[in-house]
Amino acid sequence: MMKAQRWATSRWSGYLVFLVVLLATTLSALKASNPVAERLLTRSIGNQGAEVIAQVDQVMASVVRTLTAIDRSGHAACSAADLSLLRSELMRSKFTKDLGRLEGNDLACTTMLGVLPEPFVPKQRSIPLDGGLQLFWKAGLLLDPSTLGVVVRAKRSSLLIDLDAFGVPTSPGLNYVISLRDEPTPLVIGLDRHGLPGYIETARVAGFEQGKRFCSARVPLCATVVQARPAEDHANRQAAWLLGSAGILLGSALGGLALLLHRRRTALSAQIRRALANGGFTVRYQPIMRLGEPPEIVSAEALIRWPDGPAPPDVFIAEAERCGVIGAITAFVLDTVLEDMRGLFEKLPDFRVAINISTPELLDGSLAATLQRLWPEGLGRHHVGFELTERSTAELQDILPQLERLRGQGHPIYIDDFGTGYSSLAQLQHLPVDYIKVDRSLLPGSARQRASLIPEILAIARRLEVGLVFEGLETREQAQLLEGVGQTIFAQGWYFGHPETPDKLQERLKPGTRRCE
Ligand code: C2E
Ligand code: CA
Ligand code: CA
Repeated sequence: MMKAQRWATSRWSGYLVFLVVLLATTLSALKASNPVAERLLTRSIGNQGAEVIAQVDQVMASVVRTLTAIDRSGHAACSAADLSLLRSELMRSKFTKDLGRLEGNDLACTTMLGVLPEPFVPKQRSIPLDGGLQLFWKAGLLLDPSTLGVVVRAKRSSLLIDLDAFGVPTSPGLNYVISLRDEPTPLVIGLDRHGLPGYIETARVAGFEQGKRFCSARVPLCATVVQARPAEDHANRQAAWLLGSAGILLGSALGGLALLLHRRRTALSAQIRRALANGGFTVRYQPIMRLGEPPEIVSAEALIRWPDGPAPPDVFIAEAERCGVIGAITAFVLDTVLEDMRGLFEKLPDFRVAINISTPELLDGSLAATLQRLWPEGLGRHHVGFELTERSTAELQDILPQLERLRGQGHPIYIDDFGTGYSSLAQLQHLPVDYIKVDRSLLPGSARQRASLIPEILAIARRLEVGLVFEGLETREQAQLLEGVGQTIFAQGWYFGHPETPDKLQERLKPGTRRCE
C-alpha cells in the first residue's frame, strides 16, 4: 500500500518536473533571443567583476600597509618585544590570519607559534609584487603543510592572508574565482558550498572556460566571473529549439532526467528529515581521558550515528548544515544526551558530555531556543559543553555574543579540529574558549605529523589559559609521549575507547574499571 502510494507520488512529481522543465526551456529560449536580457546580464557580470577586483585591491593594500609597518620594527627579530609588536599589528589588520618574522629567507617566529623549533622555508615559487614584495599563491601552512594559504613576504616579515577576505556577495546566478594573472594554475580561490572562499580546482568550476576575466591594475590577480550552471542554460536553449520540432517526446525525456537529478540532490536531506522523524539516529559516546597514572575518564564526546543511513557523519552533517536541518540534529543529540546521561550527571558532579554544534545554529538562535526548551531545571550547565570547529571562527564577530552567552550560562566551549584551518592566536585570544581540541593530524605517528610543534601548542594553551584535548590517539606510544609533557592534558582516541553505547560508558565509569588496557 505504502509502496504504491510512493510510486504514484513520484509519478506525479515526474509530471510536475516535466512541466517545470518545459516552462524553463521555453523561457530560456525567449531569454536567449531577448537582447535586453542579454544586456542586463552583461552589466551584472561587469558589476560583479568590478566588486571582486575592488575587494582584491583593498585586501592587498591593507597587506602592504601591515607589512611596511612591521618591517620598520627596531626590535631584535623574534624577541618578546618584536612578537608583541607583531601581535598588536595582527589585531589591527582586518584581513590577516598570522604574521611572522623572517631571518634571511627563513621564517623564524609567528604570532601563533612563537619562535619556531626549526626555521621554515616555503618550497613554492614566489611571484614578484611592487615594492620588492613576494606573493606565494598557495603556500603550505606551518601547522599542516597540506593546508594552503596566500602568503605575502616583505624584506623582514611575512603575512598569511585570511582567505575569507576574498569573499564578496554574489549576484543571483553568478559565481567567481580569483586566480593569478600571468600563470595558469589549476588551483584558484573560489566559493565553497557554504559561500566561503577556499582553494578549488579550475576543472571543477562549472563554466570557467567561458567566464569573463577582470584583472587588477595593481596586483597580478584576476577575477573570472562565471554564470552558475551555464552548461545547463546552453542545454536548455538547445532543448527549446528541438522541442519546437520534436515535441512532447523530448520533453518527457528531459523531465525524466531532471527528475533523476532533482531526486539525487534532495535525497540525502529528505532522508535526514525522515530519519529524524522516525528515530533513525542514535548517539554514541567516546571517552575523553585526563592523562596520568592511571588515565581517568573525565568526559565524553557525543557522536551521532545513523545505523541504516547512506552516509557517514561528516558527510550527512555537512548536508544538514547546508539544508538547514542542523538545528534539528543538535536538538535530537541534546535531548538524547540529557536522557542517556541524567543519572550519570547526578552521580558524578564533574562529569561532562561535549556536543558538536555549527555556526548557523548560533547565528539563527536555534541553539539558544533548543536549550531553553530542553534544559531540565536544577541540572548544572557545566555538564554539557559545546564543540565548534576551527573553521567556524571565521565568522567570529557574528558568533561572539552567542558564544559568550553560552559560556556565561556555564557551558564550557571547545574549539574543535585545531590545526586544520587557519586559526591564529589572535582569533583564539578573542574567543570565549575553555578547551582546544588538537586535530589528530598534528599527532606524532600520523601521516602528516609535525611532532616538534607539540611544545608550541602546549605553550599556546598555557598562554591562553585553556585546556588541551588531543584527538585521535591510537597507540600506546602516542599516549606515552603526551603523558610526559609536564602539564595536565586530555586525550581522546581509539587507544582509550571507540564511541560506545551509554551503558558501556557507564560500566567503564564504575569505580575500579576506569583503567584502560
Ligand atoms: P569530530 O568532531 O572531530 O569527531 C571525532 C571523529 O574522530 C569521530 O568521527 C570519531 O569517531 C573519530 N575518532 C575518534 N577517535 C579516533 C581515532 O583514534 N582515530 C581515528 N582515525 N578517528 C577517531 P565520526 O563520529 O565519524 O564523526 C565525524 C565528524 O562528524 C565529527 O568530527 C563531527 O565533525 C561530525 N559529527 C559527528 N557527530 C556529530 C553530531 O552529533 N553533531 C554534529 N554537528 N557533528 C557531528
Ligand atoms: Ca568534535
Ligand atoms: Ca575533532
